Amino acid sequence: MMFKNNLFGVLPDGREARLFNIITPKGLEVSITNFGGIITSIKAPDRQGVSEEITAGFPALEGYLKDHPYFGVIAGRFANRIAKGRFVIDGKTYKLQVNNRPNHLHGGNKGFHTRLWDYEVSENPGSISVHLRYLSPHLEEGYPGNLMARVTYTIKEENELEIEFEAETDATTHVNLTNHAYFNLGGFQKDIFDHQLMLDANHYLELDETQIPTGKMLSCENTFYDYRPIPEIEKSLRQLRAPMDHCFVLNHGHSLKSPAAILFHPSSGRMLSLFCTQPGIQVYTANFLDGRMRGHQGIDYQKHHAICLETQHFPDSPNHSGFPSTLLKPGEKYKHTSRFAFEAK
Ligand code: BGC
Repeated sequence: MMFKNNLFGVLPDGREARLFNIITPKGLEVSITNFGGIITSIKAPDRQGVSEEITAGFPALEGYLKDHPYFGVIAGRFANRIAKGRFVIDGKTYKLQVNNRPNHLHGGNKGFHTRLWDYEVSENPGSISVHLRYLSPHLEEGYPGNLMARVTYTIKEENELEIEFEAETDATTHVNLTNHAYFNLGGFQKDIFDHQLMLDANHYLELDETQIPTGKMLSCENTFYDYRPIPEIEKSLRQLRAPMDHCFVLNHGHSLKSPAAILFHPSSGRMLSLFCTQPGIQVYTANFLDGRMRGHQGIDYQKHHAICLETQHFPDSPNHSGFPSTLLKPGEKYKHTSRFAFEAK
């Protein structure tokens, strides 16, 4: 395994952001910065062994200092939407920033994706881990409690990227962390509709006109959102056929044993299998990209040219008593794991 720790850039306040670059013997190359806990780049080999960039991102820190669509970031304290930017804990209403009218999105404009995280690196046999730590003060972006968040990225020699999300608080709060990487396994040459997908989900959440769940779970059967595994076919994949910005309710619940999702790009052979322990995955087909974001290799990212598979609790959980709870109390440990396995078939 090869490892580098370089200067990525200097923040306006003079602090330095680092860029960690890890390459496995099988040619997976992952770059992570401690600014926003962002995965800036993943390069993966195709079936001929040719590596290409498969995530959207910027080559320099400057790109991440401006407003951007959360490319590769750690979204937090609460990934996804909270209706009208408010929730109630023990009778007290907490008001969050309304940064996606009329709702709160991805922790606010100054969410975890804009923070400089402390870091440590550990090398173990067959893997390298980048440990990130951020102490979010009480009432930051409106959330109660001093929240200690930890995200550990582990790159393994079998071409896997594992992300462990942890948090502890000193006052009852809500937390929902995810990584927001945008993937195109074909190297961003075409839109995402030449990919195939499997999603181990029989249901998805119905949304209102402001993209907040109504509380109803709808069946995927006979809809554009039907990517359920086909029995007897080990890697059952279906052609991606419609834009999505929906939270899918995972069938298996809390297990790293079988993939929650598989993304496949037939012409390059690149395949991504995603394992996770969360109840949901937000699938977002970059519906709001519009060619105005120039990233790696001078690519202007276009609508539908990427897909995000965001492992998480359901959107607006703080306001839905019927959803699995996102409440974190003092003395409790928030912890979940996502594993991205890359191969070429
Ligand atoms: C959301 C989209 C949002 C995007 C922002 C996704 O997680 O589901 O609605 O526009 O993040 O980049």
